[in-house]
Amino acid sequence: MMKKFIVTLIITVVLVACSTSPTGRKQLMVMPESQMITMGVQSFHQLLEATPRVNDASIIQYVQCIGDAITQLPSVQAVSSDWEIVVFDDPSANAFALPGGKIGVHKGLLTVAVTPAQVAAVMGHEVGHVLANHGNERVSQSFAANQGLALLEGWLGKSDNKNQGAIMAALGVGTQVGVLLPFGRTQENEADTIGKELMARAGFDPRESVALWQNMARGSNGAPPEFLSTHPSHDTRIERLNDNMASAVALYQQSGNKPQCKR
Ligand SMILES: [Zn+2]
Repeated sequence: MMKKFIVTLIITVVLVACSTSPTGRKQLMVMPESQMITMGVQSFHQLLEATPRVNDASIIQYVQCIGDAITQLPSVQAVSSDWEIVVFDDPSANAFALPGGKIGVHKGLLTVAVTPAQVAAVMGHEVGHVLANHGNERVSQSFAANQGLALLEGWLGKSDNKNQGAIMAALGVGTQVGVLLPFGRTQENEADTIGKELMARAGFDPRESVALWQNMARGSNGAPPEFLSTHPSHDTRIERLNDNMASAVALYQQSGNKPQCKR
């Protein structure tokens, strides 16, 4: 099985090692898409076992409504036609998305993202990581750095907790909810760009993304949320978000979507 895996890996490297992200950036990607999906779904189930869900139906419906507006977009449907959105009962202002169509939103996010468009900005950003295959890129970089053995063993079904942890770290989540690990700065910028476009197409005013980061800058005490953790400063991020804002606003105004998501 190991031999077969290595042969498959080599073929995959040759075929797909040089991919292009949605923003036109060259990426190293060696993992088959199907494997990324398996890893994403497994990680999500582990998180579900470890952390309680929110029971409040009004919160669940509110987050689901916003998530639906984003996940129904053709570019998001192309990645998965069956997105699952779960609100975790965790006070940290955080969210994540995983290959295989899984989105987790922490209840605490709603204290910082105070409008539907601000929640959409975060969910769009997280889905942007999945659309741009950032998990695959990070796993591939891990292989390239000769640290791929744990991942490889996990892939081959010998996963213990340590290996599962390595897989989840590569996907941007910790082994427990509340510990989300940052992507690189390039990937964060790219997720911001994609997220802004997704929220606009979904019918949310992309200018609200700036308001969100301003709230975050005011409210971040202790460990920064995943989507804030790898960037030079709030000001720089806000400045960059304002780049191309006119084209995102145009997308928003042309969007036929008008989601009515209320708590
Ligand atoms: Zn991010």
